[in-house]
Amino acid sequence: MSLIQLKDVYKIYAEGQENQVNALDGVTLSIDQGEFVAIIGTSGSGKSTMMNILGCLDVPTRGEYLLDGTPIRERTQRELSQIRSRQIAFIFQGYNLIPSLNVWQNVALPMLYQRVPLAERRARAMEALEKVEIAAKADNRPAQLSGGQQQRVAIARALALSPDILCFDEPTSALDPELTGEVLRVIRALAEQKTTMIIVTHEMAFARDVADQVVFMDGGVIVEQGDARQVIEHPREERTRQFLARYSEN
Ligand code: ADP
Ligand code: MG
Repeated sequence: MSLIQLKDVYKIYAEGQENQVNALDGVTLSIDQGEFVAIIGTSGSGKSTMMNILGCLDVPTRGEYLLDGTPIRERTQRELSQIRSRQIAFIFQGYNLIPSLNVWQNVALPMLYQRVPLAERRARAMEALEKVEIAAKADNRPAQLSGGQQQRVAIARALALSPDILCFDEPTSALDPELTGEVLRVIRALAEQKTTMIIVTHEMAFARDVADQVVFMDGGVIVEQGDARQVIEHPREERTRQFLARYSEN
């Protein structure tokens, strides 16, 4: 059984109005436990909308989302908030670190809300910082770190919660090219641990080499999905080909 199943999911804004947007226009997708899925596509194609639904930050207008085989709409608010705080972690383009806290305190903060005792918070924060190779900066403030280092701290903050699913929405898009590599390296290392990971990315070589499955979206639909190398190197659909050609020009 798949960990994640979207069945004919729609997300419609301003339905029935002149400015209606079908951000998702009938999306069906399965993701297995331990799978690494890369979502690619142009701006406005529905990638973040789909990711937010997968991460239970948003709900479909229509269609079904099953997580662990259970329809999300059958969950209580309390269960959903548990899922959001324990089962699924997000890493966004912006790092959202708190400037007045040092690095390890930032990583430990979500555990505070879970009432983890201080000594354990600190130990788990340090362990997570070691995984992203930035434990040496534990006592620094975020402003003293480069963008790539700050993003690695944000990844550590997610890891410290031991989530079942890690969601990355364009984690390197705010970074200078020379800092992108260090973040992708960390994500690549995490992929080897076989946590379920979903990443929206414009790094095509990374998607090809590290992801199991690639999903190409356009206009709120999945145009093509399949084996990562197959989709990136030998796309079947014309729209995918055009998208990839535009990307290799840039
Ligand atoms: P992507 O992440 O691929 O750039 P998004 O999922 O953010 O795309 O957006 C998909 C479409 O939905 C876009 O046309 C966007 O303008 C629209 N959209 C996203 N959020 C909202 C909203 N809250 N209200 C209205 N339209 C929205
Ligand atoms: Mg987006």
